Amino acid sequence: MSTVTSSSLLEASRVYSVPEQLLGLKQLSKNLWWSWNGEAQALFAELSPRLWSKFNHNPSEVMMNVSEQELTARLADTAFSAQVSHVLKKFYDYLGSNTTWAHTHATEFADHPVAYFSAEFGLHESLPIYSGGLGVLAGDHIKAASDLGLNFVGISLYYREGYFQQRLSPDGWQQELYPLYKPDFLPLDLVTDADGKPIVVSVDLAHSIVHLQGWAVKVGRATLYLLDANLEQNEHHYRDITSRVYGGDSTTRINQEVILGIGGVKFLHALGLRPKVYHMNEGHSAFLTLELLREHIASGKSLTEAKELVKSRCVFTTHTPVPAGHDRFSPDLMDYTFSHFIKSLGIDFDTLMSLGRENPADKLSHFTMTVLCLNLSRAANGVSELHGSVSREMWKHLYGTASPSDVPIGYITNGIHTRSWINDKADAFWRRHADDNEAFFTDANTLAHILAGISDAELWALRYQLRREMIEFVRQRLEEQNLRHGWEMGILYPHTLSPDVLTIGFARRFATYKRAPLIFSDIERISKIINHSERPVQLVFAGKAHPRDNGGKKFIQEIFHITRMPQFLGKVIFLENYDMNVTRHLISGVDVWLNTPMRPLEASGTSGQKVVASGGLNFSILDGWWREAYNGSNGWAIGKDEHLPDQDAQNKLDAAALYDTLEHDLVPMFYERNKGIPTNWIARIRNSMQTLMPVYNTHRMVTEYIEKYYKTNA
Ligand SMILES: *Cc1c(COP(=O)(O)O)cnc(C)c1O
Repeated sequence: MSTVTSSSLLEASRVYSVPEQLLGLKQLSKNLWWSWNGEAQALFAELSPRLWSKFNHNPSEVMMNVSEQELTARLADTAFSAQVSHVLKKFYDYLGSNTTWAHTHATEFADHPVAYFSAEFGLHESLPIYSGGLGVLAGDHIKAASDLGLNFVGISLYYREGYFQQRLSPDGWQQELYPLYKPDFLPLDLVTDADGKPIVVSVDLAHSIVHLQGWAVKVGRATLYLLDANLEQNEHHYRDITSRVYGGDSTTRINQEVILGIGGVKFLHALGLRPKVYHMNEGHSAFLTLELLREHIASGKSLTEAKELVKSRCVFTTHTPVPAGHDRFSPDLMDYTFSHFIKSLGIDFDTLMSLGRENPADKLSHFTMTVLCLNLSRAANGVSELHGSVSREMWKHLYGTASPSDVPIGYITNGIHTRSWINDKADAFWRRHADDNEAFFTDANTLAHILAGISDAELWALRYQLRREMIEFVRQRLEEQNLRHGWEMGILYPHTLSPDVLTIGFARRFATYKRAPLIFSDIERISKIINHSERPVQLVFAGKAHPRDNGGKKFIQEIFHITRMPQFLGKVIFLENYDMNVTRHLISGVDVWLNTPMRPLEASGTSGQKVVASGGLNFSILDGWWREAYNGSNGWAIGKDEHLPDQDAQNKLDAAALYDTLEHDLVPMFYERNKGIPTNWIARIRNSMQTLMPVYNTHRMVTEYIEKYYKTNA
């Protein structure tokens, strides 16, 4: 070996001293960078496999249970210590890189960040401050912003009881549990000033003042700030405002939104940050515009001037394709909530209301958060092509135009942070075939080259490996669930699911428009499909209904009862407590991801994008992202690119289309084998990977946001 080679080898695997490694592991556990790096996760799993699993893969909690003495001793294991050094080098290289995309393409944000406000962030299962797709999108957005090197901060709330944990009663009715998530056990740091004193800001709420502290979460190079009203100096009932994701009634809701929007701006300013762009992810954070207005008016600007200045800094993403889904507050509630704030705002109540009224002349009408966003942003967008056009139609009256094409709402189709959604097996597979070159996640040519080097048999081996891994996870979860319901140990296992059988997954929030039970519209027909002697099918469901959504809970119960019918036992499964961990298991293992929303209510959807890199295929209504992604041979469509005004008729039509495709195309293709391998099926997997992975990711999505919306002169 020449000296040159050995010194570059040494550089590539820099060895850190034991104190450096101790510090490094602590820093690593506190930076969500680990959540998309399998090798980093493996270090914490290695420290304690049981705690890693018991604490829902939470490095902070593992680290709290491992003494410095034990860590030091473990680091004497040269293999472990080499692995720690290897990961730390990657971690520090990532944090310190000055060759990111933004270094050359988005320099105008170097001193002034993009501030992204979202009521929820889904970063990882161990930080449960999300309820569903909106939060997961925000989490994937901030991760990609970090990867791109964009100067970016997130703002949200610290929900110490998170979203609920779901259990089903023996009769299949959803129960909600709210464990407490203490900050000490999470990757959170209290935000303090130079003297170590907590930074506290306050907002006027009704007739009170509510004080807020903030927690910082490091997400790679980006930071997410979580505001927290649980301070002793607050009146008791205000301390609980931030306890739960979308908890309580409309009063709690408006209070949370005041804290998020107004408190968020004040907090950023207290940190000395002057964002170049404020991005409102859905209308929940719209009140941030009021705080910005207040500042400009206080500095002597007229309302008209202030509005223009606020508009020039704000952009808005809408996610809700039905009028009823938008946050609306009554004049009374607005009057009460802003009774104090309005005095410092310097405008009268009617003027305030007019900023959020669809028809400002209607003095009885409610205040709509989306209207405030649209009035006070310079740009707005929906989250898929169809959703963009639905939104333009829905809001055209605000612009006094009969033609939706004149409405300034564009679209950027959602994507996923691919790295966060592949499990360790799929990660190893891609690593092996891509030689650690990550470009294939986003670049079609690189991906084509890599795919050409992978044989059908290798792809099929991956599918088997991932399907089995998922089934074993499901069996274990189900056993716990069944024991609680008084079933005898072993009554189902190992007769639950078969690794040889075509497996269809459906998991998401149980909002009724997503129509989870659609596939059971005709019990006889689906039973024949599932119990076919040569070509059987099995189904796995998971999902939470919002605590106040009885319709969604009824859907869960309906499916739960179906899982108990003799013809479906062990073949149709409902897994409790859907979260990002359950997602990752299901999207890795299923062959087909089913999505049956009532069109056009799925603004984009992202869960189907998660199956692609693991070789799953989409089978979905042509709504949201799938309507523009489906090309005839990268998955399957349910029905046509159209919808009827009559919902019952639409349900019937969609169910019939679903069964037809299953019976005549999808199921036969899976079981048609050529020397043991389903060649046509694998061709579809290749087509899916090639056409979807490079497009439906947050790298593409965030780049589009930067170019089209964040840059002022774009
Ligand atoms: C991806 C994801 C979602 C979004 O699912 P859709 O089908 O796109 O609505 C919701 N919840 C969790 C936990 C997810 O991981």
